[in-house]
Amino acid sequence: MKAMLLRGPNLPFEPVDMPDPAPGPGEAVARVITCGSGLTIQHVKAGRRNVAFPRIIGHEITGEIVAVGAGVSHLRIGDGVTAYYYLNCGHCRWCLANLEPVCAHTGGNVGLECDGGYAEYIKLPAHIFIKLPEALDYKAHPAEIGVVTDALATPYKVLRRARIRPGETVAVIGAGGGVGIHQVMMAAWANARVIAVDVAPSKFEACRKAGADATVDPQRTDLVDALRELTGGEGVDVVVDYVCTAATLEAAVKALGRRGRLVVLGGAAQPFALPARDMLLNEYEVLGSRYVTRAEIVETFELVARREVWPLVTDVRPLAEAEAVHERVERGEVTGRAALRIA
Ligand SMILES: [Zn+2]
Repeated sequence: MKAMLLRGPNLPFEPVDMPDPAPGPGEAVARVITCGSGLTIQHVKAGRRNVAFPRIIGHEITGEIVAVGAGVSHLRIGDGVTAYYYLNCGHCRWCLANLEPVCAHTGGNVGLECDGGYAEYIKLPAHIFIKLPEALDYKAHPAEIGVVTDALATPYKVLRRARIRPGETVAVIGAGGGVGIHQVMMAAWANARVIAVDVAPSKFEACRKAGADATVDPQRTDLVDALRELTGGEGVDVVVDYVCTAATLEAAVKALGRRGRLVVLGGAAQPFALPARDMLLNEYEVLGSRYVTRAEIVETFELVARREVWPLVTDVRPLAEAEAVHERVERGEVTGRAALRIA
């Protein structure tokens, strides 16, 4: 099969021919149609995340099962599938409670601890594949369907994690990013009032199209003042921080209103100071949010099938152009998601 291989951190993709993978017991192989190209996997390419090289990255796939190993009964050849990003065990008490992101025996991630989707075929433990619902026309929209599992489902999960209700005000920090803009879309879908916060004003028009009611550039104006002003001095109900520097997190807490919730995801993941007295007086909550459960992916697919929301994929190119796509991702030039077309 053709694949794009990374031989080490900070190296260009190397187009290679490799043997086609064959499924062992409990495994399955899918032909990859498209694979999303987000910042999570660019972090690997740029050496900001430790993995064992050589590695084929990519996890936001749309594919079709072409082979199943012994003992696999829930997948058949020809099934349209995507992949769950975590190599969860499926048996620990967290997996059994449908809380797979906090699996006690996780094997890591697709495209990090095992080879991923930047190739003609991908082999995974069969339970990692998720069958695409019949109602989704994945053949017509493979790039959009493939990015649902991360770019759109992660924001959907945040709606529940922060218990966002209609009419609440939600500020999204990093709203111009690939997941951030889908968070804007999801919060607007949930009938919240959305404030998009980003240091790239070039992304504000897309944020407004995705449903933002207001935009704030914290390089031009004080973030806390701006959020207080936009809420008549009350403070925001929920801040979702995709940047997570100490500065954004501490500003986020200061901008919360009574019973405010701060959701912490990815980004720089820096330590930050929490004002205990303000937390007590206002009953703030700080919530970590890690990826999504399988059930949340299935629910997000249902929303996409009904066209309640639709993934924003603005740049789809052949696998051979992976390097150029990742240069754009690194520079923050992609609006929404980019994806590679493989089949
Ligand atoms: Zn588990």
